[in-house]
Amino acid sequence: MAEVIVIGGGLAGCATAYYLAKDGVDVVLLERGELNTQASGSNAGSLHAQIPHDPFVNKGPEWARRFAPSIQLMARSIEMWHQLPAELGVDLEVSTKGGLLVASSEQQLREVEAKARLEREHGLDVRLLDRREVRDLAPYLSDRVLGGAFCPIEGKASPLIATLAYANAAKRLGVSFRRHSPVLDIERGQGNYRVVLGEGSLVAPRVVNAAGADAGRIAAMLGIATDVQGFAIQVAVTEQTGPLIPHLVYSAGEKLTLKQNAIGSVLIGGGWPARWHGRGHPVTDPDSLAQNMALALQTVPALGPLRVIRTWAAVVNGTDDWRPILGEVPGAPGFFMNFFPWMGFTAGPLIARVIASLVQGKAVPLDVDYRPFLYR
Ligand SMILES: Cc1cc2nc3c(=O)[nH]c(=O)nc-3n(C[C@H](O)[C@H](O)[C@H](O)COP(=O)(O)OP(=O)(O)OC[C@H]3O[C@@H](n4cnc5c(N)ncnc54)[C@H](O)[C@@H]3O)c2cc1C
Repeated sequence: MAEVIVIGGGLAGCATAYYLAKDGVDVVLLERGELNTQASGSNAGSLHAQIPHDPFVNKGPEWARRFAPSIQLMARSIEMWHQLPAELGVDLEVSTKGGLLVASSEQQLREVEAKARLEREHGLDVRLLDRREVRDLAPYLSDRVLGGAFCPIEGKASPLIATLAYANAAKRLGVSFRRHSPVLDIERGQGNYRVVLGEGSLVAPRVVNAAGADAGRIAAMLGIATDVQGFAIQVAVTEQTGPLIPHLVYSAGEKLTLKQNAIGSVLIGGGWPARWHGRGHPVTDPDSLAQNMALALQTVPALGPLRVIRTWAAVVNGTDDWRPILGEVPGAPGFFMNFFPWMGFTAGPLIARVIASLVQGKAVPLDVDYRPFLYR
C-alpha cells in the first residue's frame, strides 16, 4: 500500500509526486494514458504573472480583486522555474525577457493602466510604456501600438520537456508510475481510499487529485462538487526564423499571446476556441485560426512571410472564476485537490510544492500565501 496515490500524469501530478518522493514519501501515480499528453504537454509554454487582460475587461473589477492573489503564486512559481533546470538536471528552455501587453486604442490604454495599478498593489513589477518607449523596447511591433505595460519577470519554458523532467526525477526517487491506468471510481474506507482501476484497485490513506480538466469527474466520484470545466482551445506555430521576438507579447484587444521558442519558431495563441470533434476530442477551428493569425500580423508585421507549419487543439482545465482549487477537501480527510486553472503550466511547480507539503501536514517551505485558495 502506497502512502499517497496521485491521479494524473500532467505537470501537476508529476511535480507533486516528485516533491513528495523528495521528502521520502512512498507514491504511486496513476495516469489514464501517457504522461504529458494532455494540457501540460500541449500548452503554449508562457510563464505568466499578470492578470489576464480579457477577463479583466470582461468580468469586471470584483472578479479582478478576487483573482489578484493568484499573481504572487505565479510570480513565485516563475522564480522556481529558474531553479528547476539545475534541480531536475534538464534544460527546460526557461527564458524570462519580460511580458509586453500592447494597446492599440486609447480605451485599451486606459484598461492596461487600470490593470497595472491593481497588479502593482499586489507586488508585481509592471511598467507603463508610452508609444516611444514601447517601440524602443520592441521595434518589431506594429505602428498601430500606442503603448503598453511591461512585466519583466514573464517569459516561457518548454511544455514538451518540463513534465517529463519531473517524471524522470520522480522515478529516480522511487515513484511508481502506472500508465494506461484510468481511475474508474474511488471508495472511501476506514481512514483510507480505495481507487478502482480497470484491473484491480489500490488503497492509500491519502489521494491527490491532479487530473486537470477531469479533476471535477474524479472529485465527483466521492460526491464532491466543483465547477471544474474543460475548454477546447488552440495554438499555432510557425516555421523557424532568426531571433525576432524576445518577449512574451499580449494584445489588449482580442485574444493574443505570441513568443519565439528556443529553436526560433513563433508560437501564436491566446485562448482562441477550438471545436469538438464528433468523436469527443478537440480539433482546430479554422475561423479561430484566421482571426488569431490576423491579430498576430497586425501586432507583429514581420510575421508576414513566415509559414504556419502546425496547429493543434487541446483541453485546458478551467473554472468560471479562474481561481485555483487547492488542498484537503472538507469532509474528505486525506483527499487533496491540486487544480490551477488556465495558467497551470506557470503555477505548476509552486502549487505542486504546496500540495506535497499539505499532504504531509508539514509547513510549506515557501514564502507565499496560498491560503486564499485553500479548498472552499
Ligand atoms: C492549448 C493550451 C495552451 C495553454 N497555454 C498555457 C500557457 O501558455 N501558460 C500556462 O501557464 N498555462 C497554459 N495552459 C494551461 C496549462 O497547460 C494547464 O493549466 C496545466 O497544464 C494543467 O496541468 P494538469 O497537470 O493539472 O493537467 P493535465 O496536463 O491535463 O494532466 C491531467 C492528467 O490527468 C489524467 N487523467 C484524467 N482523468 C484521469 C483518470 N480518470 N484516471 C487517470 N488519469 C486521469 C489525464 O490523462 C492527464 O494526463 C494552456 C492549456 C492549453 C490546453
